[in-house]
Amino acid sequence: MKVIHLSVECYPVAKVGGLADVVGALPKYQRTMGIDASVVMPWYDRPFLQQHKTSSVFTGTIAQGEQMLAYEVLREKDNSLGFPLYFIRIPGKLDRPEVYCYPDEAEQWIAFQHAFLDYLHAQDELPDVVHCHDHHVGLTPFLLQHSLQYRDRLGDITTLFTVHNGQYQGWMSWDKSNLLPAYDSWKWGLLDWDEVINPMAAAIKCCSAYTTVSEGYLQELYQDANGLQDLFRMEAAKAEGIVNGIDEAVWNPETDESLEKNYGVRTVRSGKNANKKWLSNAYGFDASKPLIVFIGRFAYEKGADLLPSIIDELFALAQEDFCVFILGSGDAEISEQLASRKSRYPERLATFFGYNEELAHRVYAAADLLLMPSRVEPCGLNQLYAMKYGTIPIVRNIGGLKDTVLDIAAEGGYGFVFDEADATEAANGAIRALQVLNDKKQVDQIRKRIMKLNYSWEQSAMKYEKLYHHFVKHKL
Ligand code: ADP
Repeated sequence: MKVIHLSVECYPVAKVGGLADVVGALPKYQRTMGIDASVVMPWYDRPFLQQHKTSSVFTGTIAQGEQMLAYEVLREKDNSLGFPLYFIRIPGKLDRPEVYCYPDEAEQWIAFQHAFLDYLHAQDELPDVVHCHDHHVGLTPFLLQHSLQYRDRLGDITTLFTVHNGQYQGWMSWDKSNLLPAYDSWKWGLLDWDEVINPMAAAIKCCSAYTTVSEGYLQELYQDANGLQDLFRMEAAKAEGIVNGIDEAVWNPETDESLEKNYGVRTVRSGKNANKKWLSNAYGFDASKPLIVFIGRFAYEKGADLLPSIIDELFALAQEDFCVFILGSGDAEISEQLASRKSRYPERLATFFGYNEELAHRVYAAADLLLMPSRVEPCGLNQLYAMKYGTIPIVRNIGGLKDTVLDIAAEGGYGFVFDEADATEAANGAIRALQVLNDKKQVDQIRKRIMKLNYSWEQSAMKYEKLYHHFVKHKL
């Protein structure tokens, strides 16, 4: 079974969020199962690509409207990620420092997908499956089947589409259609949703099967998917929710090189104390107090706008003394409000505004509690990483959080779950958690329980394998 993952993010080359973590881990686990999995991604102007050697494996040219674009396919030489990693370099289109936020994003992703098809078409051996991740590569299933130039050779390839985040769909106006490779014009309806080209909709319509990154999120998309709920329901027969896993080579407190002190289930208390001491020295808070943390994008989806009010309510109402650490970046207004709270509570609130992978590892290790007041959470990797590091989650009852965190009130429960994306509910969840922290014996038990939970990729990788086999067999 030969599988190509197509994605615009892949850890550690280019990571903005969970998409990168999944694409950087799943193929590695699939290869241990005998699947010939590889990744194709854009070539960006990123440190990884300056530090690692690549070799050129193919060159070609594609047309984008009136423009001819030269492209090159490069392969990472050392196989340092545990799977073959290919880059498509398109000078002037993709070779930039950031992954997102350029005004010509539609042209970028169209060019990337077109070059991928062109390259694939020239290969002697074709993959059994092209596994596309999120809307940036959502046009690929359509183009494989309906582009005039490529469909004869590539039209039978099984396509899997994974929805990592259904909020963003890659909408583009119809005038962009002349930038696509020529396609069967009477098939235009497959690209359309609400009178624009909607790459996520096109993927859901054309793929062999689609998955979401948790079962809970799939059920939510049937109700509300930013306009696509009817489509998700219509195509439900080919849908499956498969929860993401933890890449244990990257996220393991016993071996994590970012940590001040490594620890396991038996040494969790002393290990976390040492890591908290480091963080408190670096950021100026009291290590003897319980620590609640938030890590993530400052976005409405993540409920980050609620953080200032949650902090106010918590500091006003909780009987227990505690500190808060916030690591994140995004919306400027949220950052400003958090900065104002920092001056209001200088001894109790510490922040790092920006993206810092190493610090994230250190924060998961140092924290007692992780707060996730998300409005939307397709899977959520933070709570999985937190639990692996013995940090107890306080989460909203939504999406993947609902599937992976069991409230302490239930038998065998180990987390704190609240229902609404609301500052008071979140603060009450945190207050419940702070009360439990007073009982050291119970905390030890919970930590041991959550560190032993099995959210490794192995189980989820097996579910993907089953899906591939089902659809590839079905097609042959
Ligand atoms: P999403 O993809 O919606 O942002 P996920 O929970 O799936 O959310 O994944 C978030 C990933 O990004 C986790 O690996 C988390 O640790 C990381 N992350 C988020 N914000 C930051 C940040 N400011 N610095 C370092 N890592 C971050």
